[in-house]
Amino acid sequence: MIEGFLVVNFHEHPSDWVLSKNERMGIDMSVLLPVGNDAVEKAVRMSRENPDKFIPFYWIDPSGDLSDEPRRLRRAVEEWGVKGIKFQPLTQHWLPDDRRIYPIYEVCAELGLVCTWHAGVVKLGHKYELGRPMLARYANPLPIDQVAFDFPELKICIAHMGGNYYYEALVLAEKHENIYLDTAFLPFFWRRIFPPASPEMVIAHAARIIGAEKILYGSEGLWPQAVIQADLSDEEKRLILGGNAIRLLGLKGSHPSPGVDR
Ligand SMILES: [Zn+2]
Repeated sequence: MIEGFLVVNFHEHPSDWVLSKNERMGIDMSVLLPVGNDAVEKAVRMSRENPDKFIPFYWIDPSGDLSDEPRRLRRAVEEWGVKGIKFQPLTQHWLPDDRRIYPIYEVCAELGLVCTWHAGVVKLGHKYELGRPMLARYANPLPIDQVAFDFPELKICIAHMGGNYYYEALVLAEKHENIYLDTAFLPFFWRRIFPPASPEMVIAHAARIIGAEKILYGSEGLWPQAVIQADLSDEEKRLILGGNAIRLLGLKGSHPSPGVDR
């Protein structure tokens, strides 16, 4: 808990240490983004145990058979209360504007689910994840342009503010009302940028271009203090740290309560 701010981490992954991490970092509530099917179960279990602290997302691998996915997604919303989907094209090897995925976007748009795409590629000491090589062409958010155009009511989030594709992500978020950027992992990406910039500078820069109401706090190495210390008004900080997430997820009021508007 941070005095004066409700902090929602829009980019967390389900794991046993999230509760203690949140305590340490002053995070009130976390969106749990699963990577892999087992992780969906874990995210759902964690949110059942702590409904006021966790919001589960769903996971789909579009490289497989998708014919049953729209039905499964609806069921996941009804039975498990998932509020969005995490897509990982980098290791799933598909592009967001692939028409095969459109029936899933239709369900998301209809039910108000958030679609979060991973963006950015890094040398992390391993070239493969989930059995596939990480290829940069699947890490660039540009194809999301077409999706946002075709589904203007779809709630879209580009993770890591695009990572090393920050400018592409910024162009898209400025262009489309329905595209948001999350700040997770910023310290990692911005150590690699020249001229050097701090996460605080990047967040303030993005807010000037696309508006603070389009930025969602995500952690992965980024403390809420980076937003608090950025050159922003108090209202802008409140929006980025939690207000935007509450609005986007359809949660009630400004308090992290399990009361959910469907
Ligand atoms: Zn992540």
